[in-house]
Amino acid sequence: MLRKILIANRGEIAVRIIRACAEMGIRSVAIYTEADRYSLHVKKADESYCIGQEPLNGYLNIHALVDLAISRGCDAIHPGYGFLSENAKFAEACKERNIVFIGPDPEVILKMGDKTQARHAMTAAGLPVTPGSEGNLDDVDEALTVAEAVGYPIMLKATSGGGGRGIRRCDNAQELTHNYDRVISEATKAFGSAEVFLEKCIVNPKHIEVQVLADKHGHAIHLYERDCSIQRRNQKLIEIAPSPQLDEAQRQYIGGLAVMAAKAVGYSNAGTVEFLLDDTGRFYFMEMNTRVQVEHTITESITGVDIIEEQIRIAAGLELRHTQDEITKRGYSIQLRINAEDPKNNFLPSFGKITRYYAPGGPGVRTDTAIYTGYVVPPYFDSMLAKVIVSAATWHDTIKRAERALRDIGLFGIKTTIPYYLQILSHPEFQQADFNTGFVEKHPELINYSNKPRPEVLASVLSSVIASHTGL
Ligand code: ADP
Ligand code: ADP
Ligand code: MG
Repeated sequence: MLRKILIANRGEIAVRIIRACAEMGIRSVAIYTEADRYSLHVKKADESYCIGQEPLNGYLNIHALVDLAISRGCDAIHPGYGFLSENAKFAEACKERNIVFIGPDPEVILKMGDKTQARHAMTAAGLPVTPGSEGNLDDVDEALTVAEAVGYPIMLKATSGGGGRGIRRCDNAQELTHNYDRVISEATKAFGSAEVFLEKCIVNPKHIEVQVLADKHGHAIHLYERDCSIQRRNQKLIEIAPSPQLDEAQRQYIGGLAVMAAKAVGYSNAGTVEFLLDDTGRFYFMEMNTRVQVEHTITESITGVDIIEEQIRIAAGLELRHTQDEITKRGYSIQLRINAEDPKNNFLPSFGKITRYYAPGGPGVRTDTAIYTGYVVPPYFDSMLAKVIVSAATWHDTIKRAERALRDIGLFGIKTTIPYYLQILSHPEFQQADFNTGFVEKHPELINYSNKPRPEVLASVLSSVIASHTGL
């Protein structure tokens, strides 16, 4: 088993990995840049090292990270999500220096991280893939020709994109011409690659993804699906496991496809196969994420499998502990991404000091976060502050629990997406489990909720004012 792991990440996912290490008796090493000096992951790890003044660069410095891991006696690196997690060069650099990279082999990352190569590999493996360009597009003329053949609307996408960025829908030739250079420049800036491709736009699809686990001994299983259809601008806001919009036959079908996909590319470790489901009931492969996902939590809740622990065990060369038959699920789980954004102001990022934070609790509630009272949210990173994960036996009970948990939180000093989520949870279409990726855009009225503070919020503010004056 591994003895000491360097966590090449920050924030809640670094804390999540530190917790898994602690439970497994593995020492954890955190890294931070100056902007993160007071971050929770720095305090929680067994050891912490500053890796730069500039806020972001240190988290992306492959050689400095591998050097640090070696000099501190680490035998593995966990990359988390974002940053270097899907960087094949990082995985390669680890391999060359005999550090275990907690993820799949560099060749697999390279293949699946490139969306056009992944489309090829999945077509070859027999998965249904959205119609689109053979490979990357050479120029706008080629784009126009392919789009004509595929039929509008189309999606123009950055080949190495992620995090919902570098994607534009184009409804006609004019829009495609207009967007072409924009997507290229977005892709270059965000992902350091100018490559783009296009595929048919599935209008108002459901986003259904399957969690897979595969070991280095040829075993692969799935842990059921997640429904991530509640999105804004192609970015996930609320995730649900299992999807309340699938029947059992559909569930078995995509679970099987995902395992087939993992086996076809020689996958090992945790991964996610993302599909779009159209309104005629057809599934299309969209992409594979070769890392742990933000929403792995809800799968943990319904299956009882600790995905980070499994990642570590698989990377250490152990065999999967479960066969497919042994994986069962129970009830539903919802994750709400609490972002530091002002929904009423076009989701403008909100930074600054968290003057008071009280985590929600009670049965079936889990909070993964790196915030605490007095923490100052820096402006340099992702706006996700916390993940509130609730689970219960039925869909109805899970929604009720989510509402209760959101009202239970105390989070003051900055604006968050909490009030907006309360609106979504109370919407009949959400409650009847009838929604797709167009939900947020279809319901702009949910953003214009009343600003009137709830009585319990008033009481809480009042008590903190009294406390700060009386010292009680
Ligand atoms: P998930 O796919 O796990 O649901 P997101 O798509 O929200 O999660 O991405 C999680 C984080 O990783 C975000 O901070 C996002 O910006 C970042 N990220 C994802 N893919 C990439 C990529 N290809 N390049 C850079 N950052 C990425
Ligand atoms: P990322 O790597 O940024 O996660 P994805 O390829 O997974 O990018 O797409 C992100 C989101 O964009 C999807 O969840 C979906 O809502 C939307 N999307 C992507 N491709 C299509 C498509 N062909 N048709 C309709 N929606 C799409
Ligand atoms: Mg995706």
